[in-house]
Amino acid sequence: MANILVYALHYDGAINKNSLGAVSEGAKLAAELGGEAHALLLGEGVPQDLAASLGSYGAKKALVAEGPDGLAQPLVDAMAAAISGGDYKYALFGGGLLGFEIGAGLAARLGAGVAMEVTNVRAEGGELIAERPILGDSSISEIKYRSPVGIIIGRLNAFEAKESGDGPAVVEQLSYELSPQAQQSTILVRGEQRGADVDIEGADVLIAGGRGLGKPEGFKLAEDLAAAFGGNSAVAATRAVVDAGWYPYAAQIGQTGKTVAPKLYLAAGISGAIQHKVGMQSSENIVAINKDANAPIFEFSDLGIVGDLNKILPKLTEAVKAKKES
Ligand SMILES: Cc1cc2nc3c(=O)[nH]c(=O)nc-3n(C[C@H](O)[C@H](O)[C@H](O)COP(=O)(O)OP(=O)(O)OC[C@H]3O[C@@H](n4cnc5c(N)ncnc54)[C@H](O)[C@@H]3O)c2cc1C
Repeated sequence: MANILVYALHYDGAINKNSLGAVSEGAKLAAELGGEAHALLLGEGVPQDLAASLGSYGAKKALVAEGPDGLAQPLVDAMAAAISGGDYKYALFGGGLLGFEIGAGLAARLGAGVAMEVTNVRAEGGELIAERPILGDSSISEIKYRSPVGIIIGRLNAFEAKESGDGPAVVEQLSYELSPQAQQSTILVRGEQRGADVDIEGADVLIAGGRGLGKPEGFKLAEDLAAAFGGNSAVAATRAVVDAGWYPYAAQIGQTGKTVAPKLYLAAGISGAIQHKVGMQSSENIVAINKDANAPIFEFSDLGIVGDLNKILPKLTEAVKAKKES
């Protein structure tokens, strides 16, 4: 049997969106391989109903391990124990820094092959083939595993969470031993870097600002527009402005920042460098404002506005407010 073990990150009583995507993807792939997808949750007193709820995303079984959540090492211990004691051919992670850390640690522990930043997985001849963009996303490499266990770490937002309509997952307690290295660190505080209301990766509307905003105070224009949209809107930034200290690192989009796919990505004063593009190109609608008609961002925008953002952004904010009030 080719079962797949999926790591399910949870926080504050909810499963992370990328983990739900990974569970859905794992369930689809396991069915194609003739196996099952199981999920693993780790934490202190993980609610049974939270674990069981993964059944509606296709997990047949949810393994619950007691231990300190949020750190990679205990999860490496728990996942390694589940894989050694079970019948798993693949381990799947939804992406994010913790997923990278656990996946890499698990690969070292098991002597397993690992593929990171995976954007697609397909089943072929009873095996999984992971696809990973390379060379600044200009080509795709395909990875097949020779090791008994293959580790697949998705790119953020690569896998879509889909409710399968299945019943609750069977919940089982997993016993494992914490390695000495897993006991060397503890989490003192866990929380959002910029307040609980800002969730760049989960936002429907992102107003992203670049060096064209001119100065740190220029971000007020982006914040006003995001506030006018209201609801699930947030402000994002390029690395150039983050490095310059104009905006917090947590808002950086791109190769060395976050990968997002909102319904609307409005890029203001952003040139559209390849390292920025790879983090936002999957957005449903891309609108760019740039005073340079030859800026590369226009090559991959759905709508381009050539002009001065200092004039256009306030007008857009007024227009959005007026539309909301009408
Ligand atoms: C290894 C590596 C990793 C990197 N990772 C990332 C990453 O994760 N994310 C990222 O974003 N970058 C990353 N970069 C940097 C990237 O190459 C670019 O330098 C950066 O994205 C440029 O940011 P920008 O668009 O804000 O600035 P610029 O390239 O300087 O562009 C500013 C734009 O604003 C326009 N503009 C100026 N004034 C106005 C105005 N008044 N109205 C309208 N438009 C105006 C200009 O025409 C210009 O197009 C990385 C680079 C390297 C080498």
